[in-house]
Amino acid sequence: MDIPCTRCGEPWEAYHVKHEAEPGDFKLEGMAILACPCCKNKTNAQIKADVGPTMRQRLQECKVIAEALGDDEDGAITEMNGVLEASYRDDDDDDDDDDEADDLEDEADDLEDEADDLEDEADVEIIDDCKGYPYEHATA
Ligand SMILES: [Zn+2]
Repeated sequence: MDIPCTRCGEPWEAYHVKHEAEPGDFKLEGMAILACPCCKNKTNAQIKADVGPTMRQRLQECKVIAEALGDDEDGAITEMNGVLEASYRDDDDDDDDDDEADDLEDEADDLEDEADDLEDEADVEIIDDCKGYPYEHATA
């Protein structure tokens, strides 16, 4: 059974990780591989360039699974591989157009967030106005 590196997605034989690897080869947190020989010398920017956004999200899910099922090694590995198999299937369907659509969707989300922020700011101003109103009359 393979355990995926939650940083770069490289699958590693569980036995190798637990029993054969040199100390320092893997950075482990319970069942989750946080860094592996494949990615330990890479910067976060390099990882970001190598691993797509969908995959990064799946790997994040794997980390959560590893934490949640830390006592159940086989269960955690099975769950993690299930998540990643779904991801590989997604990637097969994806072509560049889809990636572009995803990027645009992300951008739209960002703009929406920005709009929300502006709205929040506007709300604050209105509340301030309301606060000022009764005081003016109270002092008049
Ligand atoms: Zn790795």
